[in-house]
Amino acid sequence: MSTNGDSKTAVLPAGQDCGTQDSNVLRQIPVGALPLPPKPKALPVQQTVSVGLPPPPPVKTIPVEKLEALYNLEKDYDWSHSQNEAYAKLLEKFGESWFRDTTGSVNVGQNSYNNTTHIRFVTISDTHKKHRALSNNSMLPKGEVIIHAGDFTSIGGIKEVKDFCDWFGSLPYKYKIVIAGNHDLSLDKSWYGIDQNWRSLGLPKVATSCNGESTEIMRSSKNFIYLEDSAVEIEGYKIFGAPWQPEFCNWAFNLERGKQCDERWNNIPTDTDILITHGPPLGHGDRCKHGLRAGCFDLLRHVQNRIKPKYHVFGHIHEGYGTSTNGATTFINASTCNYQYRPLQQPIVFDLPKKTEAK
Ligand SMILES: [Zn+2]
Repeated sequence: MSTNGDSKTAVLPAGQDCGTQDSNVLRQIPVGALPLPPKPKALPVQQTVSVGLPPPPPVKTIPVEKLEALYNLEKDYDWSHSQNEAYAKLLEKFGESWFRDTTGSVNVGQNSYNNTTHIRFVTISDTHKKHRALSNNSMLPKGEVIIHAGDFTSIGGIKEVKDFCDWFGSLPYKYKIVIAGNHDLSLDKSWYGIDQNWRSLGLPKVATSCNGESTEIMRSSKNFIYLEDSAVEIEGYKIFGAPWQPEFCNWAFNLERGKQCDERWNNIPTDTDILITHGPPLGHGDRCKHGLRAGCFDLLRHVQNRIKPKYHVFGHIHEGYGTSTNGATTFINASTCNYQYRPLQQPIVFDLPKKTEAK
C-alpha cells in the first residue's frame, strides 16, 4: 500500500511562472452563470475577490481552556484504541461542542487583498472530473497560488488524469499545487496492481497500460507541482502534500488507523507552514452526512501537537466543506463538489504576508 515515504523539498525561485495564462476564460463567462448554493442568495457588495464569494465571516475560534483540556486529554489517553472509542471518550469529556464543525466561511483571507504585501492562496479539492465548471462558471478568484487537495478524477482513468493536467496546468496562477486522493486510483501503484481492489469497488480496471503512467504524468509536468509525501517551498513558505487517509471503503491511498497512520504522518516535517492532505483530521470538516466523523485522529495529533501549520487544507468529506480553527491552525475543507458530486462549493482563499515585504 505504501509508496515511498521520503520527504523531498524542491525550491522554486520566486517569480517562476508555471504554464500559460488563461485569463480570457474568466472574462468570457458572465458572473453568476452558475446557480449559487442557497446561502447567501445575493453576492454581497463588499467582495474581497473578483467573483462569486460571500464576505468573510469571522473565523471560529476555540477558547484556550478547551484547547488545553484537549491537549491534556490527548496526552493522557491511549489513542491506540479504536476510532469509535476515541469518539466516545471525547464526547464523554467535552460533549458535542468539542467537535469543531466547519463554519462554512469561504474566505479566511484579508478583507482587502493587497498583492504587493500578501500572497493569496486559492484552495479547491474533490473536483471529480468536473474541474472545468470552476473556470467556465467564473468561480476561481485571482491569486498567486492554487492548491488542489486531491480527487481530481472519478476513478483515475488516464483520460481523466490528462484532462485535469491540461486544465490545471493552464490556470492563471503563478504556482499550482496538487495531490492525489482516494478516487485517483491509478496514482496509487500498489493499490492499482491488485485486481481484487477493483472487484471490491465493482469497477473495471481503468486501463492496464496506465499503471505508473499517471504518476509519471503528474510528476513530470512543468506546469504544476505534484506532491506525494513531499514538500515544496514557495516564496519562503514550506508546503507539504500527502494523499493518504484512514481506511475508507477499499479506495486508494488507504491506511489502517493507528500505527500505519501515525508512521505516515510522522514523515511530515515539523516546519511545514501549509499542510495538504486528502483526508481531514478528526474533528475538523470531517462529519459525514450520516453523522459519523471520518477524520484521522493520528493526523490531528501530529497537526496539533507537533507540526502546528498555519493552514491545513484537505477535502475528501464533501459535506464537511468550510473552515474551522483550533487557535493555531486554520483548517480548510476545500471540497468543490458537494455531497451530490455537483461542483457548487466555492474555492476558499487565504492570504499570507510576503516574506520579503515583512523584512
Ligand atoms: Zn471526493
